[in-house]
Amino acid sequence: MAKSKGRNEKGGKGRGKKEPKVRKQVKKKVCSFCATNVQDIDYKDLTTIKRFINEKNKILALRTSGACAGHQRLVAIAVKRAREMALLPYCTSR
Ligand SMILES: [Zn+2]
Repeated sequence: MAKSKGRNEKGGKGRGKKEPKVRKQVKKKVCSFCATNVQDIDYKDLTTIKRFINEKNKILALRTSGACAGHQRLVAIAVKRAREMALLPYCTSR
């Protein structure tokens, strides 16, 4: 059983003092579509869609946007449809 290589003994690699981890209480985001009971997202509704893209017109990640997985999927589809219909740009010039 004594096969450990001394790495986990005495607190890892021994660089400085180990600070105790303090977890911040993160308030859980509520999906805005679930809160308003939205079933489908229209690609023509640009005011809604534009909340889910950044300044480079990329679709925001799920952890950033705060939408649930199902609604995030619908948002992504709506953004891609809006791009196809030339309502939104694919990308901005660098
Ligand atoms: Zn949702």
